[in-house]
Amino acid sequence: MNARAIREPAREVPVIAEPDVLVVGGGPAGIAAACAASRAGARTLLVEGYGCLGGTLTIVTLGGLCGIHAVVDDGRLGRVVGGMCLELEERLARVDALRAPARHGRIVGVPYDSVRLMGVADEMAEAHDVTVMLHTNAVAVAKEDSRVTAVIVENKGGRGAIAARVVVDCSGDGDVAARAGAGFEIGRDGQTQYGSAMFRLGGVDAVRAGQLTRAEIRECLERAVADGHALARTATGVHLNPIEGVAHLNVTKLGRPDGSPFDLVDPGDLSEAEREGRRQVRLYEEVFRKYVPGFANARVIDIGARVGVRETRLVHGEAVLSEAQVRGCGKPADRIACSSWPLEEHGRGRATAWEFLPDGEWYGIPWGCLVVRGFDNLLVAGRNLSAEHAAQASVRVAGPCMALGEAAGAGAAASVADGGSARTVDVGALQRALEREGAILTPDFRPPG
Ligand SMILES: Cc1cc2nc3c(=O)[nH]c(=O)nc-3n(C[C@H](O)[C@H](O)[C@H](O)COP(=O)(O)OP(=O)(O)OC[C@H]3O[C@@H](n4cnc5c(N)ncnc54)[C@H](O)[C@@H]3O)c2cc1C
Repeated sequence: MNARAIREPAREVPVIAEPDVLVVGGGPAGIAAACAASRAGARTLLVEGYGCLGGTLTIVTLGGLCGIHAVVDDGRLGRVVGGMCLELEERLARVDALRAPARHGRIVGVPYDSVRLMGVADEMAEAHDVTVMLHTNAVAVAKEDSRVTAVIVENKGGRGAIAARVVVDCSGDGDVAARAGAGFEIGRDGQTQYGSAMFRLGGVDAVRAGQLTRAEIRECLERAVADGHALARTATGVHLNPIEGVAHLNVTKLGRPDGSPFDLVDPGDLSEAEREGRRQVRLYEEVFRKYVPGFANARVIDIGARVGVRETRLVHGEAVLSEAQVRGCGKPADRIACSSWPLEEHGRGRATAWEFLPDGEWYGIPWGCLVVRGFDNLLVAGRNLSAEHAAQASVRVAGPCMALGEAAGAGAAASVADGGSARTVDVGALQRALEREGAILTPDFRPPG
């Protein structure tokens, strides 16, 4: 690192917007937060660094929306996330961009079309009267005591200040919270989950590929390793896309030459991770064609516009979602969202470690995990919530992230309406408001009728 520095000249920054609620980051958490805040009556602005909404769902691409269902028993799934997430699913289904939930053993995902999701997210923001500013990055924060007074953004128009009454940081990386001086952890002792480059293969024999179990795919890929192919990971499933003959693969694992995970908020590491991701995608294309039934004619049709980031900053909140709470299926009275997703650890080695909750079990996430410690008007939602590393490994998937975003947006609007602080939000009233809008705070797994 070069120790030389220059002093940036002080400058006037125009105030370009004064919404009630500013949401930074248009991933699943940010979409839900902005729509929920606006639905509750707050004038809401959503800023996003890329040219579309969806975050990891569109920019990185996923095989399916996970964490929406719990496995109740062998044949049955029960919903643990409703509200804005259900609205997104219904909108996707209307444009033929969603398939029925797919089970891979005890893992459940809802396959979706990432390209159509871009347009669906636009429509959803418009339907909820959210103002969206794309290609705009939050880069700095102005604050007075415990209040964020403005978030400074940069885009092609230059630099501008957004003076909002409440800010919700859904950047995934806790960018706003970190620039405001909030405390955070990076993973556990600086070690995060590994990131992955995501890609889709076209020309897949969907019938043959659809019959493969995770164990069979692992066997094929381990054979490739035995033949000398240096695969970073061999444990994966094939996610058939709503588009015929297209499969989504989440199989790469991005580490430094010494095997440690990249720090994906370090610009040097992030750049190298992108290059390493593309190298691995080329290798997996070759290996799938040669070793995995149904893929002989497969070819990469797209790679995410950026590497997938599972974990970076975990922002310190008024409460912390602990590993013990997740493992013990804790149901705190002040929960504003719930999840039943397993602890899914993408750590060292070629496998992924899955620890499932008992069938039909779930845990709740308390409101305090969204309230940034030391701030009156700064919330976080999504994968950068206040959580221990192993707890984040469970709560970070799309369904729970949307539930967290919805709660943060509704809570932000409530604190604007009562002129108070995010710390003094009436959580009981927030819970009732969320449930009225279809959010699930106590899953009901009884069979219908
Ligand atoms: C490789 C990988 C595979 C995964 N597989 C699945 C899966 O199959 N199913 C599933 O449900 N989940 C999966 N997940 C998890 C899930 O996708 C994410 O954890 C979830 O998208 C997190 O949502 P989020 O809104 O918190 O953050 P993100 O999706 O990361 O969205 C953050 C948004 O903020 C924007 N942003 C960031 N910084 C700024 C800034 N400073 N200014 C403005 N905008 C900013 C980003 O561009 C992005 O759009 C996977 C994750 C990864 C990385």
